[in-house]
Amino acid sequence: MTDYEMVIGLEVHCELSTASKIFCSCSTKFGGAPNTHVCEVCSGMPGTLPTLNKQVVEFAVKAGLALNCDITRKNKFDRKNYFYPDLPKAYQISQLYYPICRNGHVDIKTANGVKSIGIHEIHMEEDAGKLVHDPLSGKTMVDFNRCGVPLIEIVSEPDFRSADEVIAYLEKLRDTLQYLGVSDCKMQEGSMRADVNLSVRPRGQSEFGTRTEMKNIASLKAIARAIEYECERQIDVIEAGEKVVQETRRWDDEKEYTYAMRSKEDAQDYKYFPDPDLMPIEISEEYIETVRSQLPELADAKRRRYVEELGLPEYDADIITGSTTLVKVFETTCAICGAPKDASNWVMTDLLKLCNDNHITPEDMSFRFESLGEIIKMVNDGKINRKTGREVFAKVFTDNVDPAEYVEENGLAQVSDLSAIEPVIKEVLASNEKAVSEYLGGAEKNFQFLIGQSMRALRGKADPQAVREALQKLLDEMR
Ligand code: ADP
Ligand code: MG
Ligand code: ZN
Repeated sequence: MTDYEMVIGLEVHCELSTASKIFCSCSTKFGGAPNTHVCEVCSGMPGTLPTLNKQVVEFAVKAGLALNCDITRKNKFDRKNYFYPDLPKAYQISQLYYPICRNGHVDIKTANGVKSIGIHEIHMEEDAGKLVHDPLSGKTMVDFNRCGVPLIEIVSEPDFRSADEVIAYLEKLRDTLQYLGVSDCKMQEGSMRADVNLSVRPRGQSEFGTRTEMKNIASLKAIARAIEYECERQIDVIEAGEKVVQETRRWDDEKEYTYAMRSKEDAQDYKYFPDPDLMPIEISEEYIETVRSQLPELADAKRRRYVEELGLPEYDADIITGSTTLVKVFETTCAICGAPKDASNWVMTDLLKLCNDNHITPEDMSFRFESLGEIIKMVNDGKINRKTGREVFAKVFTDNVDPAEYVEENGLAQVSDLSAIEPVIKEVLASNEKAVSEYLGGAEKNFQFLIGQSMRALRGKADPQAVREALQKLLDEMR
């Protein structure tokens, strides 16, 4: 049987995290009551004029620079005309002829090493509204809140050869845009959506096969499943002596198959033309350099610095840099306690365990991030012991208590004062005569037992090192 290879190109839409929409001052906030973030501009009233939100350009340039693109100095917006009930103007303002970024690339990690994925272009456009199907009344309603939310569409070259590469790329895009602060890339809220163009060809053939396009698949897992299914389907079609039809197909993640929605024959003619309401935008070299100088440290550079300069294990550095929230906690913690390795230990063990136990992701944590550094500092300064620190952190995590106040109010401070420790140890020695005399007779292992008894008598609040020293001293005096 012929050996086939899949070829994939992605069109990824990301909603930008600007406070207001691209052509009006309505809020972009997700989840408002239907039709409450709407005005005459974004609801497409006749006679209204769009005004470009400057920050959209800044965010698009930021994304372009981070994805190694050339920035187009002369930009224009175009109208993409089509009718659909979620698009009140009956056209979408987009960029066809002069997209803001071109010729970029992203390096991803694959099983066979690093691979560069080409980015054909990135353009700015506005999002459409949303149709809401009400199963009870059988009616369909329209919510215009999303109309005019700014998007960038990132179009890749057909450079992917496996589902794994696609997932690695999407994760890399998500990390990058989140680090830049230009998009939250939440697939579950639709702020990152991927269209997958896929074809197959006999391995070794240089021409591409005919492709299909699967739109708006809702999660990375679903994308991987859709790719495997569609690849098999196309191979079956070719093996049966038929031809793959260029069409848009919908992936049904529950039933796990794709079905045809729209073929090339009835593909829409969008009758693009330059938008006459918006002036062309000229981007100066100076502006580009200013934006470039403001780019934050991105995931790869951060990961390297954590390992090489802070001495974190690679595994820890990978996990922490995989989430901008973990980065924030980690860096805040380091700044306060000054001990990067301790900070990463606490994040990797206690913090991730607390997230797990409380069934939340790091993104949903709501405590004051400074608290963790304050706790570590108290532990490292000997004010509380590790075990107490862990208890205080659990309380901080769930109830956002102030660590120092909590320790004070609950009398959790560690006792390291000898005058407080010695009398208690003396009592322990008096009530464990047998263990003491065995120890004095050479049973070294009883020392650990006596430590345990002393710690318990001090209700776990004593500094273990101070207890050890005091016990040794008292025992030596008894020889
Ligand atoms: P259109 O404008 O018709 O959507 P584009 O040329 O813009 O087509 O391509 C859209 C996406 O499809 C791009 O990401 C591109 O890499 C990808 N693509 C193009 N041809 C193929 C192919 N034969 N197989 C897989 N992907 C393809
Ligand atoms: Mg396209
Ligand atoms: Zn508006």
